[in-house]
Amino acid sequence: MDEIKFFEYDREALSDPEQRVLDILIEIGILVHSIWLKQLNPKTGKAQFYPEGTTRTDIINAAKSNPDLLSPYTKVVLEEGKYKAIPYSELYKPEIDKIIGLLEDASKQSAEQELNAYLGAIASALRNGEFDELEYIFVQNQDTKLEIMIGPIETYEDKLLSKKKAFQYNLRILRENKTHEAEEMISVMKEIQILRPEKSLSKDLLSDKINIRVDHVVMLAGRQSRILLSSSNHPNNPIALREYGSKIVVFTTSMAEKFDDRLMPLLSKLKSGDSDQRIDSLRDATFRLVALHEITEGIVKYEDMQDRLGRHQDYIRELNADILGVHSAKYHVLNGAITNEQYKDLLTMFIVFAVDTCNRYEQGGSIEEYSKGFAIAFNFFEKTGAVTFKSRKIDIDYTKLSRDIEVLANIVLQIMEEGSEEDAEELLEDYGDFSIFSKLPKN
Ligand SMILES: [Zn+2]
Repeated sequence: MDEIKFFEYDREALSDPEQRVLDILIEIGILVHSIWLKQLNPKTGKAQFYPEGTTRTDIINAAKSNPDLLSPYTKVVLEEGKYKAIPYSELYKPEIDKIIGLLEDASKQSAEQELNAYLGAIASALRNGEFDELEYIFVQNQDTKLEIMIGPIETYEDKLLSKKKAFQYNLRILRENKTHEAEEMISVMKEIQILRPEKSLSKDLLSDKINIRVDHVVMLAGRQSRILLSSSNHPNNPIALREYGSKIVVFTTSMAEKFDDRLMPLLSKLKSGDSDQRIDSLRDATFRLVALHEITEGIVKYEDMQDRLGRHQDYIRELNADILGVHSAKYHVLNGAITNEQYKDLLTMFIVFAVDTCNRYEQGGSIEEYSKGFAIAFNFFEKTGAVTFKSRKIDIDYTKLSRDIEVLANIVLQIMEEGSEEDAEELLEDYGDFSIFSKLPKN
């Protein structure tokens, strides 16, 4: 069963009131985690939002007379042969009530006005069962030194309909430095059009509506304990982007851990490896890679995307963020923001990161929607010889890879822009064969 993930942090760097608040916020994370455990099927360890054996059609048909069945914030059960939706606010009331009490407690301990207001706003949204608000309150929060993200937020775990949201939690401390690279990327991005396609919502998004913070993670709980999250962007909802802007968080602690434990060992599987001397540059490239993913995913959105792409929206959006994000770096080279060598390192880390994600998926530790995109990418690259996997080694042809990324970026962007669920299905059928994972080098 999932366990909460804790990271070391510099407690001495926090004031006494900050330490007290942090301790309460840890307690809240433990409660969120207990809700998440209740969302899991004890036998399979997977999130269960519907009765066993239920099909998509069952729910869609039943929802015609009972739309609550499709709410992101209900669990569906069978009662006397009929589907019934139980609201999260009812189902997890004891935990939620305790969380509200602790939030109020924390906001009394804190000396930081903004943080008090933030925690208070979360408490009142929870009290009113306004779960949608949690993400928007988070996006609007200023750079408070301590920050949490709480709520049923993402739909990845709902394999049936991509509707139901799982409880997640993270607790972080703001790092004052290390943000300048990210700020630099945003400033370059403002000048180039690549991330502002014609019909996208980012077209008219003001640059000051894109905020990025770089944090030290203290705790990952709930759904986020399962994946070693290294970054995030919100809001998910395209319409909300226009209203609230985009907020990107890079999690340096979990990213450093991921680089050392998982990515660095994979670098030795590169065929043309002078990677030993380049570790620091490759570490920076990883930071750049995740920031580009989040910036792209955060702003390249289309108003009707969710309806058009249906259950494939998550995989298409993630793939677009990976591919278009990396592709956009080419313009950073032209702009002088990064060197050719740094671009090459970015391509290297993109491949290594993708290999790691697919490996972890096979071990049950990563999201299927991410792996779908990487399966498509790997099959695509293998076809042209941009990337080849032989005897568990990775051979990269950087010129071909750079070109392939551009071609694939255009295909995926087209689907994002005007494609249907069927178009996304077709791309998956053509290139999404997971059997390529068996050729990937393992740690
Ligand atoms: Zn993403």
